[in-house]
Amino acid sequence: MDFPGRRERFAARLSELGFDAILITRLPNVRYLTGFTGSNGQVLLHADRTTFLTDGRYTEQSRREVPDLERTTYSAFPSAFADACRALEVARVGFEAGGVTYKLYRDLAEAGDGVELVAVGEEVERLRWIKEPEEVEMIAEAQAVTDDCFDRIVAKLSEGMTEREVALEMELIMRQNGADGLAFDSIVAFGESAAEPHHHPGDRDLRRGDVVKLDFGALYRGYHADMTRTVAYGEPPPELREIHDLVKAAQQAGIDAVKPGIAGSEPDAAARAVIDEAGRGREFSHSLGHGVGLEIHEGPTLRAKSDDVLPVGAVVTVEPGVYVPGLGGVRIEDMVEVTEDGCRPMPRSTKDLVVL
Ligand code: ZN
Ligand code: ZN
Repeated sequence: MDFPGRRERFAARLSELGFDAILITRLPNVRYLTGFTGSNGQVLLHADRTTFLTDGRYTEQSRREVPDLERTTYSAFPSAFADACRALEVARVGFEAGGVTYKLYRDLAEAGDGVELVAVGEEVERLRWIKEPEEVEMIAEAQAVTDDCFDRIVAKLSEGMTEREVALEMELIMRQNGADGLAFDSIVAFGESAAEPHHHPGDRDLRRGDVVKLDFGALYRGYHADMTRTVAYGEPPPELREIHDLVKAAQQAGIDAVKPGIAGSEPDAAARAVIDEAGRGREFSHSLGHGVGLEIHEGPTLRAKSDDVLPVGAVVTVEPGVYVPGLGGVRIEDMVEVTEDGCRPMPRSTKDLVVL
């Protein structure tokens, strides 16, 4: 990964943004700019002398992971920040509005006596929208583990298993196949539980005629995968089979609409139109998708009011769903990579209704 290149591109914008330096405190952004994978670290980004700050637990790790930056190990972050500002002779410093608590802001302002602190928006996040080829490879690795888990868990489903047991089994399978962890807590929902878009796996046991909604993904070297499939354990109620066909058609319409240069609202509208036309618009109660990368939910977003413009190299999910309380629900979700002429879906798992 080209960490120095990323920092240079960002530092080139400092004067345009009107700052002498920018303090990066959101960990996914710290990782993006430096490669640091620990749980506490900050970057004071400067045109010539970017400084990395962390605490004593990470002295060795930061030496290894961030060898190319000046490093400071501290016992108190605000005073270390103030010292670094003095050393760099900076007067106007940006900080990430989404990465600083009100308490930390007050502590930094007090310690950095005289340094003007100005909130900045999602500047690093915007750079992260466009994935480098190596990042796409990491996401593809995470997806491959996820696809493999789908094959294996479908083969293992049996009557009487609980949602909780299936979720645990999926975690084991993914970790055994090289995942560093879960991209997020797996959603496993049987039968009527599938009517909840974000159901937490419980003690419901699997019965004949249930749909099984699985929303899950592997984490691989910091990169996330996110996929949903809905299968049936025995022949499902006819209405759910119909809903599966509908969601599949809506998802395809969403995928067909994804291309560079359009607003994130367009694929959402394309998928929603298919579901609206079937009279089920109110049962598709969430937005169509989101970016995926170092975070499970990032930009650009695909939702009704999104004016995020999709760039080549973005990786976004397309995930419509229809949920009917008391009956169940279906969601189908793929990550797609935005390409010059449209997009490339990343999973290989089938989207036909699998009836077990
Ligand atoms: Zn998902
Ligand atoms: Zn998702």
